[in-house]
Amino acid sequence: MRSSDLGLGRRAFWRRRCPACGRAFRLRPTPGAAAELAGELVRRVPHANAAEIASEGASAGGCLCPYCGRQGPLELFLGRAQESFFDGAAEWIAAEVRFEQLRLAERTLGQNPYLTFLALPPAPPRLPAPAEVNELSAVPLLCCGGGLEIERGWEGDLHCPYCGR
Ligand SMILES: [Zn+2]
Ligand SMILES: [Zn+2]
Repeated sequence: MRSSDLGLGRRAFWRRRCPACGRAFRLRPTPGAAAELAGELVRRVPHANAAEIASEGASAGGCLCPYCGRQGPLELFLGRAQESFFDGAAEWIAAEVRFEQLRLAERTLGQNPYLTFLALPPAPPRLPAPAEVNELSAVPLLCCGGGLEIERGWEGDLHCPYCGR
């Protein structure tokens, strides 16, 4: 998985889109964000043992929109490019699992000599996700020193996505 696939911009800021006002911004990844993104990917792969996987707790960190102050779980703040990336990656992982299950029958041919199918490897996911075009520029956050990039031309108040001020 390349960092650009997840919308990581230059200097490794993570792109977000607010579900309420639709504006884009970028944040420096927080320690919990990688775990949240991994949880989001896991959530999209269909599991035979879904009940055993606790992905609910993965969204505890959440995200806050610097423009309108909307707060919510991280998955609501994924941009379209990230959404399609996750969907493609999850599909591919599910197909890989099916492929390995079929190949198990091939590998144990001695016990099962009358195999009636040939397992084909799944096509790779449709990646990379399309780039999002609107330009963002860095603003200093005086409250806590966190890094933030917002849409050019924004002149309203800002909410700090790190400390909430
Ligand atoms: Zn917003
Ligand atoms: Zn702050």
